[in-house]
Amino acid sequence: MTALTGKTALVTGASRGIGKAIALRLAADGALVAVHYAGNDEAAGQTVAEIEQAGGRAFAIRAELGVDGDVDTLFAGLNNGLAGRPLDILVNNAAQTSTGPIAETTPEQFDRLYAVNVKAPFFIIQQALPLMSDGGRIINISSAVTRIALPELAYATTKGALNALGRTLAQEVGVRGITVNTVAPGPTATEAQSWMTSSPEMEARVAAGNALNRVGVPSDIAAAVAFLSSDDSRWITGDLLDVTGGCFLGPRF
Ligand code: NAP
Repeated sequence: MTALTGKTALVTGASRGIGKAIALRLAADGALVAVHYAGNDEAAGQTVAEIEQAGGRAFAIRAELGVDGDVDTLFAGLNNGLAGRPLDILVNNAAQTSTGPIAETTPEQFDRLYAVNVKAPFFIIQQALPLMSDGGRIINISSAVTRIALPELAYATTKGALNALGRTLAQEVGVRGITVNTVAPGPTATEAQSWMTSSPEMEARVAAGNALNRVGVPSDIAAAVAFLSSDDSRWITGDLLDVTGGCFLGPRF
């Protein structure tokens, strides 16, 4: 018996990167995992295959977020895969990133970021709540850019919206024993962010920004999400957890 035996989980953006690590970890902890993704069938299939090879259970759901009918498509796939079982854990991880100063951000880019990073999680939660068992878990993946000023302005504001959402929603759904927490990763070396480990010099530079003096990896974030998914976190809600290895805490003397 493992921490999440008998539980079900939906992880958005689970075909690659941090979402994939979260899906692998929740499945290893015993959950049946819905592996959501936008369009990369091969990567999603690989995530499901890795879970199954390790003795876990998973199914994939393809649904691009930020387009008309996105959340309905996602829940059609989820309901099909759950086959009448409740949803215990929701991890809103899928997001779009952007870089650039305010002068270079177009209204179209801004709307797209909000559609994927804010509107989609909001309405995923709305549709998930009736499916969720009392005592369930909602975990939203934010970012350290809500604490540290990096040149990702519009993206940072979408993550700030998620931080606010988590606190207020926690108050609203707490009577059902559902916890809502927000996880803020720092720079994390995914396939898409491979520049962080592109050379020993670059890796050392990124590591030097963290008190723990190494570059974060997706399994670091997945470990925190696994804790917040488990019964051990039952008295924690409305919280924002900085999962950055102490990124930019201050000067190192
Ligand atoms: P990633 O490697 O780029 O993976 C993105 C995942 O989200 C993929 O599964 C992708 O599906 C899916 N996705 C992207 N756009 C989507 C859309 N419009 N609709 C549906 N699914 C979509 O991302 P990541 O770096 O692991 O980031 C995961 C989360 O951590 C995000 O919320 C991000 O903001 C946050 N974060 C990351 C870092 C970091 O350094 N990596 C730091 C702080 C916070 P496909 O494979 O089908 O494209």
